[in-house]
Amino acid sequence: MANKGDMLLTDYRPRSELVVERTQVTGPKFPVIDAHAHFGPLTLGPNYAERFDTKAEVEKLKALGVRYITNLEVIWGEALDKVLDKIRPYDDFILTSGSVDVSRLDDPGFPEHVEETLKSFKRKGIRGIKLWKDISLNMKDKAGNYIPIDDVRLKPIWDWAAELDLPIIIHIADPVAFFKPIDQYNERWEELQRNPDWSFYKPGLFTFEELMEQQENMLAQNPDTTFIIAHGGSYSENLGYVAKCLDKYPNMYIDTAARLAEFGRQPYTARKFFTKYQDRILFGTDCSPGWYEHLRYYEFFETWNEYFDYSSSEVPGQGRWKIYGIGLDDEALEKIYYKNAARLLKLEV
Ligand SMILES: [Zn+2]
Repeated sequence: MANKGDMLLTDYRPRSELVVERTQVTGPKFPVIDAHAHFGPLTLGPNYAERFDTKAEVEKLKALGVRYITNLEVIWGEALDKVLDKIRPYDDFILTSGSVDVSRLDDPGFPEHVEETLKSFKRKGIRGIKLWKDISLNMKDKAGNYIPIDDVRLKPIWDWAAELDLPIIIHIADPVAFFKPIDQYNERWEELQRNPDWSFYKPGLFTFEELMEQQENMLAQNPDTTFIIAHGGSYSENLGYVAKCLDKYPNMYIDTAARLAEFGRQPYTARKFFTKYQDRILFGTDCSPGWYEHLRYYEFFETWNEYFDYSSSEVPGQGRWKIYGIGLDDEALEKIYYKNAARLLKLEV
């Protein structure tokens, strides 16, 4: 340990001395659909099947008051069938989504690939299509250009999704700070130190502002397609902006996945937002096997607790701040916890 007044940030572990009442939360007030979970290769890697016991995980989630989860996977064909095999017989609890192969974008057969794949989803009982940020932030087309999410070549996906009544769950951008220089002003500096490849401050990549423009074009140009924009509509740091988009685009929904830290640090704004847009928000956590932070989400939504941790990590992953509950009323809670997701995904609760 260095001298007083001189310590490494990585050594700093402040313990709050605040003494306030805290309502203990042991479960949700209403059933919950976690509309954003990962139980497949996307986050667990190619050997995902060996990494969890489906029955044991389903039991843990049920104990947390969860009624369904949607397993958001960017897979199709055989890879999708393998995940469905792994989940069976709990496919009435873990609802897996599928995707299409956007790397085939420039193939003349791409529209047919989309049509066949999405029609096969209907046969397999799949209830949603997941598209990931690799499209807007990583993939390049045949000409070597990044692919804007409002690209006309993606149109068959939106059209077939509308035709087959399958909602699109799409992750487009990432926290705004990931698009800024990694310097002393970056509020996610520690997170980016731990995960340098999460930075999108790179020449040639779309800026955050460009991604938001593309997101709006996608919503505006496809009014018959239902879009659930993951992670608080891509911009949970700016709920005023998300609110304006929700007003403008009736086909837009959002999920709350992995944005508890953002919502919880702006409790006054968040409470107004969650109350006003209670019909457009789906509960989601971004959980994966063994990693369940649901109780913190319930604490945020249901209580007026002050200054509590948004994560179980000793150094909170997304920034060194704490969060506050927003004490939503029952009507809003029920919609956000399960009614909106049940409506979009056609589920009985
Ligand atoms: Zn996710």
